[in-house]
Amino acid sequence: MKQTKQKNFSIEFFPPKTPEGVEKLRVTRAKLAELHPSYFSVTFGAGGSTQKGTLDTVLDIRREGHDVAPHLSCLGSSRASLREILTQYKDNGIKRLVALRGDLPSGYGAMDFSSGEFRYANELVEFIRAETGDWFHIEVAAYPEMHPQAKSPQDDVQRFVAKVKAGADGAITQYFYNSDAYFRFVDEAQRLGATVPVIAGIMPITNCSQLMRFSDMCGAEIPRWVRLKLASYGDDTDSIRAFGLDVVTQMCERLLAGGAPGLHFYTLNNSAATTAIWQRLK
Ligand code: FAD
Repeated sequence: MKQTKQKNFSIEFFPPKTPEGVEKLRVTRAKLAELHPSYFSVTFGAGGSTQKGTLDTVLDIRREGHDVAPHLSCLGSSRASLREILTQYKDNGIKRLVALRGDLPSGYGAMDFSSGEFRYANELVEFIRAETGDWFHIEVAAYPEMHPQAKSPQDDVQRFVAKVKAGADGAITQYFYNSDAYFRFVDEAQRLGATVPVIAGIMPITNCSQLMRFSDMCGAEIPRWVRLKLASYGDDTDSIRAFGLDVVTQMCERLLAGGAPGLHFYTLNNSAATTAIWQRLK
């Protein structure tokens, strides 16, 4: 596996919904800024759920002087509304985006891929390039363990390659706990001509039931031995965190040593676990 030498280190937040959440995120961000990440990213709710929150959070981060990458999803959005968002970001000097299809929030019923102006993320990447040329550095999503709705792993890698060919500069993976799946995915994508950096998405382990729930939804596999070990700790959160720190740090070490070009931390707006992993890696 060949990827670039310089390691990228980015940190993801979601837009808080309450004034208390905004304040808590400011504190979290100040702590994580001390780690000097390459940039912060802010998620975006498809179907209109958190869009203003994303912009507000992105502008807060920008005002603090950090590089920031808003996520932008296209499912359920019109060209006109996305054009407006792109213009706002451009006018505010934002140079990065994470471009996604998105998932409609629960309550929207089954997803209808035939209606709407966008169906897949490659169409969003094409649209951004057509509207704004090379202004934005665009990351797209990658799924080392396959996206849950994909036809097959092979088809999913081909869809990933299509996003790169549409103009993506790089990718961030869904989180995983199996580094072989990552290396294999990157090798296959490279064989099919997608040679952009694929940053490994890292979910620290701090809470057993939350992790199981998220992983079921997004198709990330928790290895059996990890699940059993976590379950054996019951309510002992200190042991869960200590074990999670060991498992995730060791995986990060393997990823970086094996050529991964960087790590993207899913923080869930908390600083402690990401900071602990980062300090151990140093
Ligand atoms: P796509 O690349 O469009 O793929 C979606 C599915 O369709 C895959 O199964 C793929 O194999 C298949 N596919 C693609 N193209 C075609 C085609 N032409 N024909 C048939 N099948 C096709 N969600 C949010 O709502 N907001 C966020 O901020 C957000 N941030 C994320 C950040 C990262 C790093 C990651 C990994 C995910 C994020 N997500 C976010 C979740 C993401 O939106 C979902 O996983 C979504 O279901 C797929 O998005 P995608 O961009 O990967 O879609």
